[in-house]
Amino acid sequence: MGNLIDGKAIAEKIREEVNKEIEELKAEGITPKLVAVQVGEDPASAVYTNQQKKNCEKAGIVYELKNISSDITEGHLMAEIEKLNNDKSITGIILQLPLPQGIDVKKIQATILPEKDVEGVNPANMGWIVYGMPHLAPCTALAVKEIIDSTEVNLYGKDVVMVGHSDIVGKPVALLLVSQFATVSICHIGTSEAGMLEDYVRRADILIVAVGKANLIPGSWIKEGAIVVDVGINRVGDKIVGDVEFETAKERASLITPVPGGVGPVTTAILLRNVVRAAKWAKKQ
Ligand code: NDP
Repeated sequence: MGNLIDGKAIAEKIREEVNKEIEELKAEGITPKLVAVQVGEDPASAVYTNQQKKNCEKAGIVYELKNISSDITEGHLMAEIEKLNNDKSITGIILQLPLPQGIDVKKIQATILPEKDVEGVNPANMGWIVYGMPHLAPCTALAVKEIIDSTEVNLYGKDVVMVGHSDIVGKPVALLLVSQFATVSICHIGTSEAGMLEDYVRRADILIVAVGKANLIPGSWIKEGAIVVDVGINRVGDKIVGDVEFETAKERASLITPVPGGVGPVTTAILLRNVVRAAKWAKKQ
């Protein structure tokens, strides 16, 4: 693979561990069960839920899709989530986004029991990351961490630049890495508009980009020998590309994730790992 980070191989290793842990849980009479809540119709969500079902069933996790009509009120949706929280046979809950207008996503995410919150979006689980004690953290953030760990780089004192500050990627990634004593800068639209993005990117020993804009980062900005993790997924014509100009970046980086085949497969495997962790957490209750 040259200097490419093989996300599929990392994912495969995680899946093997997950399969083993599921066998152990089953031997104790526990079968992990994941329920995905889908409010209204969304063609993109259908692609995700079909994939989730396939991956879960392959791993021996029971998967159920709960379709809810788009005219549900916020209060009723919270009540539906409570029912799933109280059902002991369900060990994990995923809330598919987007939700219909008028429903506060954060409020619904906060209703999911932290122990069943396999996407790590409940504020309690976010809080555990702040404490440096992640329980169930957002899958993509954990995938980035897993990829960086796979390079065996010592993060102590390294200059890490995180481009993108979303709640599910940029912010948790930054916190997970600062816990290992990296010096982390978080860049966002304000950094770009202040004309400072290039300066930050050029100094990064480890660059992570999660924005969703094709070729936002020219390869010429990459520091020689940097590790580059490209989270972005963008459709350009009939191709999927990341946020980093790949061909030129790969000439300068010591290691770089391809898109596709980098962060994506690891994220998928981490979701399964989170489902197992949730089932174990429930066991302790
Ligand atoms: P969000 O849209 O929630 O966040 C994007 C971030 O990028 C925001 O912080 C935004 O800042 C920032 N931003 C926007 N424009 C610029 C700019 N010109 N310069 C610097 N920062 C900018 O997206 P997500 O975090 O959910 O996802 C990011 C990308 O990662 C998407 O392409 C998504 O498809 C992909 N993704 C991939 C996954 C995988 O498994 N591979 C999983 C999850 C996401 P502001 O909010 O201030 O505008």
